Amino acid sequence: MKYKMLEGTSWTPCGEFIKIDEEACTGCKDCVKVCPGGVISIVNGKAKVMRYENCCECAACWFVCTIGAIGFSWPKGGTGRKYRWG
Ligand code: SF4
Ligand code: SF4
Repeated sequence: MKYKMLEGTSWTPCGEFIKIDEEACTGCKDCVKVCPGGVISIVNGKAKVMRYENCCECAACWFVCTIGAIGFSWPKGGTGRKYRWG
């Protein structure tokens, strides 16, 4: 992963803000391919969030999953990814 790009940011643990509907997931890997943080992997044919701490909260996984198998909500303020500018 390329998170040297995110130097100067910090991560505060938070709840599971990405929910994958395993019943709906086809294992197409689109979310894996689009994720800049290597956060999601395919496990037993289904997408699984493996590394929340690498997430930059871009929501690309949510947008790319056209069947709606990913639910996404940004972490509460003060948790998750913090950038220098807020
Ligand atoms: S894009 Fe959606 S259907 Fe495809 S692997 Fe990810 S969660 Fe599953
Ligand atoms: S929000 Fe962005 S960085 Fe986080 S898991 Fe989805 S695609 Fe990856």
